[in-house]
Amino acid sequence: MTQRRPLIAGNWKMNCLRADGLALASSLAAKASEKGDLGCDILVCPPATLLSDVVGVTHGSVVAVGGQDCHVAISGAHTGDLAAPMLTDIGAQYVLVGHSERRADHGESSTDIRKKAIAAHDAGLIAVVCVGETEEERDLGATLPVVNGQVAVSLPDGATAKNTVVAYEPVWAIGTGRTASVEEVADVHRAIRAELVKRFEDGNEFRILYGGSVKPSNAKELLGVEDVDGALVGGASLKVEDFWQIIESCA
Ligand code: PGA
Repeated sequence: MTQRRPLIAGNWKMNCLRADGLALASSLAAKASEKGDLGCDILVCPPATLLSDVVGVTHGSVVAVGGQDCHVAISGAHTGDLAAPMLTDIGAQYVLVGHSERRADHGESSTDIRKKAIAAHDAGLIAVVCVGETEEERDLGATLPVVNGQVAVSLPDGATAKNTVVAYEPVWAIGTGRTASVEEVADVHRAIRAELVKRFEDGNEFRILYGGSVKPSNAKELLGVEDVDGALVGGASLKVEDFWQIIESCA
């Protein structure tokens, strides 16, 4: 069986002023250095205002830093946006693309996400491509076609297990305290894996994260599901103790 190193990623979303964000990032970096290798990769995705400083305080630790979005273009007249090379330039290694909040708030389509993933790859970043069905789609029994469709269109042909991570986040489980059941997670992850294997030579090596109300109390169970190779954590990544417990659930 392919050994995939799990990734535990914290998505801070639009949270944390400077003092809180830097305190959170430095405690994580300190814990990571103190505990040694826990057998997983650790990523934090702070808001744009803190990216550079978080890269600074985590420098020399195993905590990697990622942006929460990037533009498809490398520069130009796009007020308020960040280009992928700007993220690389300040020392970020990853970028989230296609988070459901971006899809909903900014009308991003899977085609847009694919272009963003290409921009990320061109800049040398690892793209964390997010997919997931809404509650309505699940109720209609359309979960697998919706998710498979998002995976098919959002992932560019140049995606590899090295430059791309897929994150399955059912929209109805994000920030709601509701988590998909182990069976629901297993079904979707199995389907995503099959799509990846069908399309990419190294499809078996891609990491597929689960996201949606992951917390210390459910992390171990979710991370134990076949084809779940880590977690994308929102709310629980804002408290160092909670995020750390989730990281330790990998071991
Ligand atoms: P949540 O968010 O853990 O707060 O549900 C997850 C995400 O949106 O990445």
